[in-house]
Amino acid sequence: MERTYIMVKPDGVQRGLVGEIVKRFEQKGFKLAALRLMTPTEEHLKQHYKDLAEKPFFPGLIKYMTSGPVVGMVWVGKGAVTTGRKMLGATNPADSAPGTIRGDFCIEVGMNICHGSDTVENAEAEIALWFPEGVATYEKSEDAWLYEKR
Ligand code: GDP
Ligand code: MG
Repeated sequence: MERTYIMVKPDGVQRGLVGEIVKRFEQKGFKLAALRLMTPTEEHLKQHYKDLAEKPFFPGLIKYMTSGPVVGMVWVGKGAVTTGRKMLGATNPADSAPGTIRGDFCIEVGMNICHGSDTVENAEAEIALWFPEGVATYEKSEDAWLYEKR
């Protein structure tokens, strides 16, 4: 089963949107495997966003992401990475469709309230970075009412 790393950014935490974001992933049918409020170091965030190190907005991004605690979580399910990205909406909230998390709750790209892994490979690397101790594995009875039997 696919796993994705979803994170509520400092603005999402400050604006009281943790529950709303958890709710959407929970109601979709994805399974929660890890969730923690954390205050990551600058070094940790530079590692998380290492692919963007050369971008002009990188210093501002690190400043934004270290401006308060974040909530990291791991969600598991069929197509969790791709569907998770769709649920967040386009990176720039000006382009995020209404009904998506960014489309419904924020305005600017530099304060877009949430993060979601963009590929399965990056998801696994991000899960290892944010939850090095590992995540929960368990059976969820709801799955019998979510997934067709082959
Ligand atoms: P994501 O995968 O949709 O989060 O987008 P990216 O990986 O391309 O960028 C990471 C984060 O950097 C985004 O979620 C934004 O918070 C921020 N970001 C991306 N592009 C810009 C930009 O042009 N300006 C600013 N200020 N921030 C940006
Ligand atoms: Mg990204």
